[in-house]
Amino acid sequence: MRVNEIFYSLQGEGHFTGTPAIFIRLAGCNLRCGFCDTDHRAFCELSEEDIMQAVAPYPARHVVVTGGEPMLQLTPSLVERLHRAGKFVQVETNGTVPAADALAVDWYTCSPKFDFCPDAPLRLQSVDELKVVYCGQPMEPYDGIAAKVYSLQPCDCSDAARNAELLAAAIAYVEAHPRWTLSLQTHKLLHLR
Ligand code: SF4
Repeated sequence: MRVNEIFYSLQGEGHFTGTPAIFIRLAGCNLRCGFCDTDHRAFCELSEEDIMQAVAPYPARHVVVTGGEPMLQLTPSLVERLHRAGKFVQVETNGTVPAADALAVDWYTCSPKFDFCPDAPLRLQSVDELKVVYCGQPMEPYDGIAAKVYSLQPCDCSDAARNAELLAAAIAYVEAHPRWTLSLQTHKLLHLR
């Protein structure tokens, strides 16, 4: 399995913000979003046993499998091993890769990218959290996506003035559409990993 990094921190964004978590970042993605801040080239090959050994020292129950696009590589057997170790498995996905029936993930956080990339339709069958990166786009395309939790996260455009505009617009949208909640990239605000 191509692994970009494994590290321990707090979940910085979305429904589980503030939760201590072990992050397994799998390398590679099928999309190329303009705002992507992931280094897709750096990785090492690790076996599932290697990954379990890297996870073992950390006390948190919560595991976040992220990417890149983790659904390109995540296997039912790794999820099973994490469950046997008592872990809760959250996957952060762009939703373009359908889940195999045997993949017993506990929580899918799906951040669709059909507004930003050509040919990025939503193919994931079931979504727990819909997390929309907000760049001021029309929100109607997300109305029909069923989820338990709806998170609206202003895009980090690396431009302070534009970021402030998007934050204000996201707050206004959430206030007017209260099934949504505001998600901030708190790890950036707090200078965490
Ligand atoms: S889907 Fe996520 S990881 Fe892939 S290019 Fe877009 S932002 Fe980066």
